[in-house]
Formats: sequence, C-alpha cells, structure tokens
Amino acid sequence: MSETGRKTRRTEAGRRFVGERKRERRERVEEIIRRLWDEYPDATTSLHHESPYELLVATILSAQCTDERVNMVTPELFERYPTPEDLAGGRREDVEEIIRSTGFFRQKTKSLLGMAAAVVDRHGGEVPGTMKELVELPGVGRKTANVVLGNAFGRDEGVVVDTHVKRISGRLGLTKETTPEKIEQDLMELVPKASWTDLPHLFIFHGRAVCRAPTPVCGECVLADLCPSAGF
Ligand code: SF4
Repeated sequence: MSETGRKTRRTEAGRRFVGERKRERRERVEEIIRRLWDEYPDATTSLHHESPYELLVATILSAQCTDERVNMVTPELFERYPTPEDLAGGRREDVEEIIRSTGFFRQKTKSLLGMAAAVVDRHGGEVPGTMKELVELPGVGRKTANVVLGNAFGRDEGVVVDTHVKRISGRLGLTKETTPEKIEQDLMELVPKASWTDLPHLFIFHGRAVCRAPTPVCGECVLADLCPSAGF
C-alpha cells in the first residue's frame, strides 16, 4: 500500500477515538493489557539477576545498551563482586575492563562504585527498597529506581518509560507527551497501579515483535481495533 493510502487508513482508525473520555481510555488500556498478556504470557525483565543488588547493577549498565549485551558481562561482574561491599572495594580499572563492551564504561564504573559505596555506608550493605532512598544513590535516577522497585521488590511505584514504551504509548494514543517524566505521569493516570511494573515489559515485547520502529506490522497486531494509529 502507498504511504498516502496508509496515512488515510491511519486517519480513519484515529477518528474512532476522537472525543474518547478518560474512563473509556482506562477501559481500553485494561483491554490492551489483557490482550498483551495473552500474547506474551512470559513478559518480564530480560536482565538476568538474583537479587536487588544484581538488578540495580544490571540496570545501571543497561543505559544506552541492549539487555543481551548487559547479560554477557554481568556473570563475570557478579562473580568478582558478589556483594555491594565487594564492588565498593573494587579497583576502577578492573571494573572498567569487565563492563567495557556495554559502552560509556568510565561513567558507568563511576556510578557502580559510587552506588556500592553508598549502599554500604548508608544502608549497611542492603539495597534500599524505597524510591527516595534509591534515587539518592549515585548513578540512580527514577527510571532505574522504578525497575528495581517493581522487579526486585514487587512494588509498583511508577512506570518505566524506555524507547518502546514511549513509541507504543504514543501510537496507542495514551499520551501526547515526549519526555519520559510526562509520559510516565500520563500512564500512571490511565494504567491500573497493579500493572505499572508489567506494562513496560508487555510494551517492550510487543515493540520487538510487532509494533516495531520505524514501521509497525499492524496487520499482525492484536491491538489493531484498539489503536488510533493502526494502518495496514
Ligand atoms: S502495531 Fe500498529 S495497530 Fe498495533 S499498536 Fe502498533 S501502531 Fe497500533
């Protein structure tokens, strides 16, 4: 189909949602979540970890890097530094060498060593389980804290907005915002709190499989009738 034809179909699809009330949008979101769970029953974080400490380290490493690449370096890192105490006492050059392939390795090493030292000094070697304490750790922003709280502590305190979540939320007409902070606020208004941690996993799985960048495969999408951007 020509680009003009695709745009026309998209416009037609979008018209169905003009004037949608917030209550209707919330119901649409609930149906979106139900269908995505049917499609991706195993959706979860792909960062390998066995503790809040390991997930925190892996999440710091995942900035500007694929989860697959992070999973290649963390086995050696966790073996060398199995606890925050071990990492806090690590040599900068050694950590840099292990994580080099994840990119931005000097800055990430600084974050890892600073985070580990703060966990030891301020929290007795235990990764804290609150947003306030987590974002006060060096190298830990709200997004990283959300990942750890949701996936290691089972606490739905926010919605992680990455490139897939940003793209799919926009295509589904759940936000018009462009910054992660504002997109997160819109999603927290629409998505049931119990799904705040799971929604990003579902969107990431869907974003890799069907709602891809730059071109979505709308003809294979289970959300097509719920999506204002659907074009075939
Ligand atoms: S693949 Fe198409 S129909 Fe499905 S969510 Fe993405 S834009 Fe919408």
